[in-house]
Amino acid sequence: MKVLSKSQIMRGLQCEKSLWLRTHKPEEQQVSNKVAGRFEQGTSIGELAQQLFPGGTLVEFKNNNLAFMCSQTQALIEQGQHTIYEATFEGNGVFASVDILHKDDRGWHIYEVKGSTQVKKVFVKDSACQYLAIKDQLNIASVNIIYVNNKYTRFGDLDIQQLFCVKNITESVCDVASNLLYQVDQLHNIKTQSKEPSNNIGLHCSSPYPCDFGKYCRRHLPKPNIFNLYRLKKEKKYQHYNNGVVTYQQAKKSIKLNKTQKLQVNTYLNQITHIDRKKIQAFTNKVEFPISYFDFETFNEAIPRFNGQRPYQQMPFQYSLHIEEQSGDISHKEFLADENYDPRQALAEAMLAEIPQTGSIMAFNQSFEISRIKELAVFLPAYKTDLLALIPRFIDLIEPFRKLGFYHPDFHGSFSIKSILPAMFPNDPELDYKQLEIQNGGMAMDTFAALPRLKDQAQRKKIRESLLVYCKLDTWAMVKIYNKLREL
Ligand code: SF4
Repeated sequence: MKVLSKSQIMRGLQCEKSLWLRTHKPEEQQVSNKVAGRFEQGTSIGELAQQLFPGGTLVEFKNNNLAFMCSQTQALIEQGQHTIYEATFEGNGVFASVDILHKDDRGWHIYEVKGSTQVKKVFVKDSACQYLAIKDQLNIASVNIIYVNNKYTRFGDLDIQQLFCVKNITESVCDVASNLLYQVDQLHNIKTQSKEPSNNIGLHCSSPYPCDFGKYCRRHLPKPNIFNLYRLKKEKKYQHYNNGVVTYQQAKKSIKLNKTQKLQVNTYLNQITHIDRKKIQAFTNKVEFPISYFDFETFNEAIPRFNGQRPYQQMPFQYSLHIEEQSGDISHKEFLADENYDPRQALAEAMLAEIPQTGSIMAFNQSFEISRIKELAVFLPAYKTDLLALIPRFIDLIEPFRKLGFYHPDFHGSFSIKSILPAMFPNDPELDYKQLEIQNGGMAMDTFAALPRLKDQAQRKKIRESLLVYCKLDTWAMVKIYNKLREL
């Protein structure tokens, strides 16, 4: 029988080849390196939104018995249930579950819960799949998206009514659904055909969602290529790519490059490092000892746990601080909050006590650290003056790179610390993020946010140590990079 699940349809609508690959070459799918998988799942946004319609019955999820989920849903409807969570249907070639299905005098209302803070266009198609699956079986009165209200600030108990917004999208869903019926049939044929579709890479590879077959579909590209060009708009990159401009040689010949892009291409083609000592010195002249190399880690979560926290607010929970004296002595300080408490006050107190009273505070891409300090100053009025006094002392280590004081052929159009460090210090295991358990800010964020759910104390200790090691490398990397610039 021709049936596609909602996720298969959404995948296929983004790119037919992705649907085909998922079916025929699943081994090519990239696996996310998220670490949160090892934690127990917390209360999901979907479960919390169920409280908007209390007293419902949950249809049990059975991955290998979808027919059972459909029949369970039918049984609940026949029993006169008015609220069903994860109600599951098959109809018009579509198999779909609905987060909340609720009945009133007007008929049945579909509610799909999203963790997003706005109603995205793609949600209409998503809900249209559900609508198609149900429409011949029930009288649908409305289709709605429940999403997160990022204006809500928690004080006391979580206010579910305030945390969520609801938008009725029935009209748009009905418009989309009629076309979708035909597309579903086509997608089914593509899924089952033996030949791999020939779709080329394009803007659709990252919109609406980043495709997990990117590595497979880009395997023909040389390294580096047109997609590495510094700050060239995606649209332009694909335009050049479709015109056959793929390599740096081709880019140099056929397109107008800006100053940074020219330097990027030339340093790579000639395998030389560009050094402009005047620009480096202009930066080093501004730096005052003792230098406080400083870096925050933050987490954000959809459901605020603490007073004065908004959904998805960046919450600083950790910092690393290397202090370099004029004598060359270097010391290290660090802070990692207890994951069960609001980290902000303890963190602000520790950083105010540990950052020296004088000298430069060096960050990499300082706007992030400065924004967090400004937010802390608003949240903690007692520390406002001291916190804000730190800001004029900030100096940004990205500056000499952005101003082209130093360009290494292996930067490949990126001035992130994760690109700069291995290029300036190749084969140095001490500076290799890949050797670490936690390798980037995203992993640190996910790990810390999930930590309160971890029961195993030994594992908790190990993970907290990994977080400390990761953040310490961020500021140690800055020490190494700055001193290398100073040597030059
Ligand atoms: S990477 Fe792009 S072309 Fe390849 S399957 Fe994904 S969306 Fe399609």
